Amino acid sequence: MQKQKLLYKGKAKSVFETEDSDFLVLEFRDDTSAFNGERVEQLARKGQVNNRFNAFIMQKLAEAGVETHFEKQLSDNEVLVKRLDMIPVECVVRNFAAGSLVRRLGLEEGQELSPPTYELFFKDDALGDPMVNESLSITLGWATQEQLAEMQRLTYVVNDVLAKLFDAGDLMLIDFKLEFGVYHGRIVLGDEFSPDGCRIWDKATKKKLDKDRFRQSLGDVIEAYEEVAQRIGVPLD
Ligand code: ADP
Ligand code: UDP
Repeated sequence: MQKQKLLYKGKAKSVFETEDSDFLVLEFRDDTSAFNGERVEQLARKGQVNNRFNAFIMQKLAEAGVETHFEKQLSDNEVLVKRLDMIPVECVVRNFAAGSLVRRLGLEEGQELSPPTYELFFKDDALGDPMVNESLSITLGWATQEQLAEMQRLTYVVNDVLAKLFDAGDLMLIDFKLEFGVYHGRIVLGDEFSPDGCRIWDKATKKKLDKDRFRQSLGDVIEAYEEVAQRIGVPLD
């Protein structure tokens, strides 16, 4: 399937139409952004590493019964996906405290959260992705109660599958963000799962191996992504 008109250029990916209105091509770029696009840098190999990482994870999730938009990896940095009607709500599960939860509640970074917590954020860069809830999401017409319930159920299934996968690589899945959309009436997992949208620490040393290395200027960002990929069995070449 050939990519046609550019529909949207996001912070990390470009979205193209194809000749079939049911499918899109996502191109993973090397652009890396933090703080809602305030800081942007190019990190060599990022597009390719995230594309392969995402393809591997999406296939694991499909095997576990989670319907995803992933169809086929087309090239080093392009993937063919189902075209979803995206729901502008980010679904976050946290197994350990970090990031905005630590800032908001003054928790200790790394504190275990048992049972894991589930939060919703409105996807809007200009507003800084504010936290929302189901009631607001329904009232503002972003999703129905049934759709939100399905998104929550699926996000916890993803957590169960991936927490085990990372654990087997001696890694801790601290937290992550998912985006869902509607495809022919069904809730389907979209966007990407890569170290750009989750937090992963080494179990023994608690070394950060995700986008916090970029946010906190810790260096060796893509080397860390590649280490995670190698430990969970993502084929990188
Ligand atoms: P952002 O929009 O946050 O800057 P990206 O650079 O990753 O993010 O852009 C990718 C865009 O494509 C996002 O807005 C995402 O919601 C959207 N998207 C991801 N998967 C799909 C899909 N299967 N169908 C339609 N839109 C999608
Ligand atoms: N996240 C993301 N995109 C966003 C906001 C958050 O991928 O726009 C991910 C982030 O990488 C982390 C999780 O969601 O894995 C929880 O993020 P948090 O609320 O702690 O916000 P942050 O500290 O990233 O601002």
